[in-house]
Amino acid sequence: MSEFSTAERLNEKPLKTLDELCQKILAYYPNADIKLIEKAYLFSEGMHEGQIRRSGEPYISHPLSVAGILADLKLDLDSIATGLLHDTVEDTKATIDDVRREFGDTIAQLVDGVTKLSKMEFKTSTERQGENIRKMIVAMGKDVRVILVKLADRLHNMRTLHHMPYVKQARIAQETLEIYCPLASRMGISSLKIELEDLSFRYLHPDFYYQLAQKVKGQEKDQEHYINDVKSMILKELSKAGFKDVDIQGRSKHLWSIYRKMKNRSIDFEQVNDVLAFRVLVDTVSQCYEVLGLMHSLWKPIPGRFKDFIAMPKANNYQSLHTTVIGPEAERIEIQIRTKEMHMIAERGI
Ligand code: MN
Repeated sequence: MSEFSTAERLNEKPLKTLDELCQKILAYYPNADIKLIEKAYLFSEGMHEGQIRRSGEPYISHPLSVAGILADLKLDLDSIATGLLHDTVEDTKATIDDVRREFGDTIAQLVDGVTKLSKMEFKTSTERQGENIRKMIVAMGKDVRVILVKLADRLHNMRTLHHMPYVKQARIAQETLEIYCPLASRMGISSLKIELEDLSFRYLHPDFYYQLAQKVKGQEKDQEHYINDVKSMILKELSKAGFKDVDIQGRSKHLWSIYRKMKNRSIDFEQVNDVLAFRVLVDTVSQCYEVLGLMHSLWKPIPGRFKDFIAMPKANNYQSLHTTVIGPEAERIEIQIRTKEMHMIAERGI
């Protein structure tokens, strides 16, 4: 059971145009000064002119997609501009002084931090992990946004890893799993962590990955009815108690965590017997406890499975109530209850 088992995925559709990026930003930040983004895009496009990605696309498609991921995480304009500019100093004739002159100190510092991180050599062995992460944290200096841009950069490179030569794929996937996934986890950004883990898994153990994906898909089909029934039972119970505007979600499977369970316990997929998880999002902390009480009166809780991460947040600031109950048809189900704000932090980080 993991608190991340029901995390949402980010939109995987790559951005194609500057206009799409601007629309995405304006959707959560209506007053955004889009001129900065346009300027960063044009600067980056000009500098990368003539360069192409292994996919055959113009190079700008990469920084544009990185900026899109940062916009999916609803980050600020400086971070998104940095996403657009992040490879200009390393890969083009632009210097950090050019970036400073055009975009000011803050963005120049961010681009400089990302450039330094990209040049860093990591040792990919588990016992060096702590050292690697310490190095990265030093490199990002005071600004955590450097790491967020770097994580978005890695995510887009992982999403397009199939264009890389076969021999490089495994090495990059291994590095992602050992360095970037723990980093995303430490930052509390579960959506990034989960996608990076599943992508790494796909390239490190492709046979296993596709087999498992197939099985999970089959199982999900079987479970669809059950999930919908439980959702409507929860909803009915909550609206009887006067709740409006609650959000209830069923789970989405995280392949890497299933694989790890199978390996650690040497069991088959059929034995993993992962509990189904549901998530209830409400407005206030007191409502969280109220919902907990309602769930425990609806279904019998399993002793020892209740965790209060609201009163005692996890080290990465994760907050939620978790309980496992005996649901319909005597199935164990996990219920996670948190406020919408806690949910946003859990998905997208600080
Ligand atoms: Mn890059």
